[in-house]
Amino acid sequence: MSNPAPLRDSFGRVHDNLRISVTDRCNIRCFYCMPETDVHFVDRREILDFEEIERFARIAAGMGIAKIRVTGGEPLVRRDLPVLIRRLAAIPGIQDLALTTNGVLLADQAEALYEAGLRRLNVHIDTLDRERFFRITRRDDLPKVLAGLDAARRIGFSRIKLNAVAVKNLVEGDIVPLALYARENGFEVRYIEFMPLDAQNLWDRSRVLLADDIIAALSREISPLIPVPDPDPRAPATEYTYADGGGAVGFIASVSRPFCLNCNRLRLTADGKLRYCLFAIEEDDVKVLMRGGASDEDIAALVRRNVAGKWVGHEINSGKFVAPPRPMYSIGG
Ligand code: SAM
Ligand code: SF4
Repeated sequence: MSNPAPLRDSFGRVHDNLRISVTDRCNIRCFYCMPETDVHFVDRREILDFEEIERFARIAAGMGIAKIRVTGGEPLVRRDLPVLIRRLAAIPGIQDLALTTNGVLLADQAEALYEAGLRRLNVHIDTLDRERFFRITRRDDLPKVLAGLDAARRIGFSRIKLNAVAVKNLVEGDIVPLALYARENGFEVRYIEFMPLDAQNLWDRSRVLLADDIIAALSREISPLIPVPDPDPRAPATEYTYADGGGAVGFIASVSRPFCLNCNRLRLTADGKLRYCLFAIEEDDVKVLMRGGASDEDIAALVRRNVAGKWVGHEINSGKFVAPPRPMYSIGG
């Protein structure tokens, strides 16, 4: 099916970017995402299978989706993920396929993922300090993440990005060491302001380490940062380069510099719900349609309805903000 009309919402924003969560399960327990114990995972029968995910991606590609990011929960805990990657990479119209992972299983899987056609990786790492890694993730897996990054680089992934969640009074001491590690290894850090998507309602504005404070620290202690004129103004990260030529760094400043006006993203959760925003309260049920025998046209119509209903943006900075009922791991970051 091919429908060339762009997926435009009522504010004129064209959507070409789809995030697909392949599982809500995870092998670690970052406090800003998951509870420490008693995590309620969706029953496996409720998770979309590869046929369903591929079908949705093909329909979406026919509607102008050109970029797909596979995420989770932790996508590498999904069995046979490279099989899905190969199928997504082969969809006509998909120009960019990326994966976000915590890296714990990456050393084992990087080669198979690369062979399946994956070229872009974001690896989540907040700290190089083993004790702090444990405090954040409740698991002692930093060596595995570092081994995963090493393996990915050796296998040929280039421009690997490191996702670091910026939590105040916690990771200040990690900002510069992580940036230096990235510079030495040819990675690019993206500092992500802590967002109100944790499972235990721990978020508070006072716990957000702001992009401006990180920029000041990096400029002071490594090299001044120069803003990069953005080649894609719809990308969420604001990019900077170091004045000394030592690479680039990005900021996803959802709290201090919301980028909703440029949003081009849709999200499919692991249990088959379509969301027009990380913070959306409403969602549309793709799985029920698919399992009820709906045609591709029916599903495309659902996608159009979802996009048409998209709100102008999250309200984190206003009194109107309501945290979504799903935490980050169950939406797909
Ligand atoms: N498990 C993978 C990982 O950790 O990269 C993929 C899923 S995770 C939900 C995607 C990204 O969300 C992570 O890289 C992490 O940086 C980010 N994240 C999780 N909780 C967050 C929060 N409350 N605020 C900001 N970013 C968060
Ligand atoms: Fe797992 Fe990623 Fe959530 Fe951390 S941020 S608990 S690695 S899903």
